[in-house]
Amino acid sequence: MAIVVQKYGGSSVADVDRLRKVADRVVRTRRAGHDVVVVVSAMGDTTDELLALAKSLSPNPDRRELDMLLSAGERISMALLSIAIRELGGEAISFTGSQSGIITNDRHIDARIIEVRPFRVQDELARGKIVVVAGYQGMSYRREITTLGRGGSDTTAVAMAAALGAEYCEICSDVDGVYSADPRVVPSARRIPALSYEETQELAEAGAKVLNAQAVEFAKEKGIAIYARATASPLPGEDPTVDGTVVRRHPPRLPGTVVGVSGERDILVLDYRTNGGGIAGADALLSALNDLRVSGKHLEIGGGRVTMIVPRENLHEEDRVRRTLAEKFGDACRLADSLAAVSAVGAGINASFDHVRRGTAALSSSGLAAASLSTSSNRITWTIDRARLDDAVRLLHATFIKND
Ligand code: ADP
Ligand code: ASP
Ligand code: MG
Repeated sequence: MAIVVQKYGGSSVADVDRLRKVADRVVRTRRAGHDVVVVVSAMGDTTDELLALAKSLSPNPDRRELDMLLSAGERISMALLSIAIRELGGEAISFTGSQSGIITNDRHIDARIIEVRPFRVQDELARGKIVVVAGYQGMSYRREITTLGRGGSDTTAVAMAAALGAEYCEICSDVDGVYSADPRVVPSARRIPALSYEETQELAEAGAKVLNAQAVEFAKEKGIAIYARATASPLPGEDPTVDGTVVRRHPPRLPGTVVGVSGERDILVLDYRTNGGGIAGADALLSALNDLRVSGKHLEIGGGRVTMIVPRENLHEEDRVRRTLAEKFGDACRLADSLAAVSAVGAGINASFDHVRRGTAALSSSGLAAASLSTSSNRITWTIDRARLDDAVRLLHATFIKND
């Protein structure tokens, strides 16, 4: 029997009624003749609530202890979903990440999966069981519990699908696919029926929460097709007109076609004056950031300055980071929290400077002077005043994506 991996996000399992609906969808998938592995997120805002509890005790909670705490969220939902499936007559068994064989490196809080040994999952599938796996977590080779960074249940699902040779991996959420912008911000955004791995990865890295960037990276590496669908949608094949978004290898689009616009609100913009030493003058800073386990992106070094964007999503010791950087570098290193990033994504978007010019002109004509701009072959990112991020997303969407 073909194996199907389905992942249900936090809003899809937020309460008992929704858990029952998910259980019903899982049981129907099984009855349609598939072996089913289900990956679940923590219920609703559980992860945020657990984090807030830890923060109320310490501004810099220990990373290992946070992993012990946060992994409990998914453990609750896996057991409840398994109970709900059994109540509907399905045979289910739940496993934590470590029981499922998810082996990670030892970087607590944002660990990376290095191997999946899904023997217990395979055994239970062979016994005819539906296997429910706790998302977002694994075990390091030192046998410590780790978590995969916010939104990491998507990665669990794709990694499991790859290890099991699944037919496909469904990521089920409160939105029925990947849109040209967050539909909560741009009501006229359109669902994109098919995306390449590269386009999806850029959209996700630029802030489109619907699919996790690391999950897409994994899917690309292993050639797994991801279907992003609404939890309330029919099963695959039942109604092709509402078939979400498929992410897989695609022939290139017309170069320069903008597929989407994403915003990233919760970032710090780091600015460091190197005080001479050329590019090597940045080394002390990069080494300090490594020691603090801070990751950054869009790194630029030159002209006596280092700049980068530090996402705050997995930064739970900001207080300690700020204090350490101030002790080591004083005023030479600044972390601005008044900026956000807005990006336009599309393969070949920078083949000419048209998109950079049009986007920048649209932003400045609305009084949204960008603080910086950076590009890759598939993306243009502007940093702008955080208070006006949603305006910027709407503006760039109207500029680049034709509306009916
Ligand atoms: P889950 O809890 O199921 O993992 P997430 O909250 O992580 O769900 O992601 C779904 C949310 O992502 C949607 O509610 C939507 O507001 C947001 N989102 C942001 N950008 C996009 C986009 N380009 N397309 C669809 N949804 C998006
Ligand atoms: N529960 C985790 C989070 O809120 C993981 C996930 O939902 O994918 O980030
Ligand atoms: Mg998510």
